[in-house]
Amino acid sequence: MAENIFPIYDRLVQFEDRCRRLNQRPVSLWFCGLSGSGKSTIAIGLEKILFQKGYIVQVLDGDNIRNGINSNLGFSVEDRLENNRRVAEISKLYNRSGLITINSFISPTKDIRAHAKAIIGEEFFKEIYIKASLDVCEKRDVKGLYKKARRGEIKGFTGIDSPFEVPEVPFLEIDTEKHTLDECIQSLFKAIEPLIRI
Ligand code: ADP
Repeated sequence: MAENIFPIYDRLVQFEDRCRRLNQRPVSLWFCGLSGSGKSTIAIGLEKILFQKGYIVQVLDGDNIRNGINSNLGFSVEDRLENNRRVAEISKLYNRSGLITINSFISPTKDIRAHAKAIIGEEFFKEIYIKASLDVCEKRDVKGLYKKARRGEIKGFTGIDSPFEVPEVPFLEIDTEKHTLDECIQSLFKAIEPLIRI
């Protein structure tokens, strides 16, 4: 039997057919920002509203990634890079299946975000800066992590003893100090709906 020289992709259900079936165009919304800036809270709210409007969407965050596929990774520089690489590859698979993802990770450096963008593809990757000052995030201290970091119990905590590089030209900037949660979700929804609508 002659060997099939064509890659498997050509023989799979095609991307455009998937989009038509799901009635949406996928994107990877890549949230970045300090711990406590509001990434998870907004991701949960945005997922709900998108789902209610008929879009198929999946939130990827520490809970379902670090406890699952990345449970063997810690917080060393190498492990953070590998964590990011795997999240981006997963997001890409979701997108190629026609699904929208909301990725909620601090992703503190330009390099990390550029790497994710290179994997996911420029067309799909939408960087969204969830903005709040260190002062406010530390006052919120949702998980008590800032107190621990200040006491030296956590090393390399972003904003305390590890830098956060503010995105220069994000697709969108959402200021959670100036706007209510509801306003933040609504302005995100308005900005992305034209991208995902067929
Ligand atoms: P992150 O995922 O970035 O670490 P969280 O979503 O866990 O942050 O925590 C953000 C905290 O800030 C929550 O307690 C949330 O209720 C509060 N908060 C106040 N205003 C806003 C806002 N406009 N958008 C999102 N969260 C807000």
